[in-house]
Amino acid sequence: MQQISARLKAEGKTIGLVPTMGFLHAGHLSLVEKSKKKSDVTVVSIFINPTQFAINEDLNKYPRDIERDKKFLRKLNVDYVFIPEASEIYQENYQTYVEVEKITKILEGEFRPTHFKGVTSIVSILFNSVMPNYAFFGQKDAQQAAVIKQMVKDLKYNVSIFISPIVREADGLAMSSRNVYLSAAERHDALVLSRSLKLAENLVLSGERNTGIIISKMNDMINSVKNSKLDYIKVIDSDNFTLTDRLIKNKNYYVLIACRIGSTRLIDNTLLKIR
Ligand code: AMP
Repeated sequence: MQQISARLKAEGKTIGLVPTMGFLHAGHLSLVEKSKKKSDVTVVSIFINPTQFAINEDLNKYPRDIERDKKFLRKLNVDYVFIPEASEIYQENYQTYVEVEKITKILEGEFRPTHFKGVTSIVSILFNSVMPNYAFFGQKDAQQAAVIKQMVKDLKYNVSIFISPIVREADGLAMSSRNVYLSAAERHDALVLSRSLKLAENLVLSGERNTGIIISKMNDMINSVKNSKLDYIKVIDSDNFTLTDRLIKNKNYYVLIACRIGSTRLIDNTLLKIR
């Protein structure tokens, strides 16, 4: 991969990287399309990164279908698909990790304390392997995007980060490879995540600025679904990823939610622009 990238760069070409864990859907596709517009050459990586899963999480059952993914990417005319083996990435005696400190401790970091260390380490390795000019991530994982931006800034990576909006199913469910875990009944219950975010948007439209009230009303909606178990609902300032009590004019905020439906843990969020 490094040799290919070095050659492309010597030819004066720009490289766009779309990192994924495979089992591709329209959300991934939106990132690929953005990369194709922006870059001369697009590389999609597919790697289910073991170090970002805790022992009790779904690494072993994470959905995979490499042949389907390859077909999907071939149809999109993607230039390169990078599918390394875990043993190539984490060779014997591997012992180096990249860790972003503060913003990895809240929200997802509270419930998945080792997660972001795995994410920043693999993204770092992917950057060193693919040497992209641009890298494309989804707002679906808004905290991950913020963590990666922080890493790029702190470690002076020469990579521009682009964030794409969340792609949803027609009924509002945020697309995710993990949605295949949901039974038909759970799939229906899972709509409460996007519905509660819509509620937050509507409350803000009608003038509500107190995040405690917004969260409490979302909480009630989520709790009305028997099969749900909330991890968190938080409102954060999108500039610095810090928690906030009151929404202030001319600023942007994320409302973020993590919730289990049955045994499947789902995340979703919305961007509020206060005007
Ligand atoms: P994953 O394969 O789940 O690791 O996701 C790879 C990339 O796709 C990440 O940057 C995600 O944020 C992004 N992504 C996942 N789902 C969506 C979605 N529904 N809309 C937009 N981007 C997404």
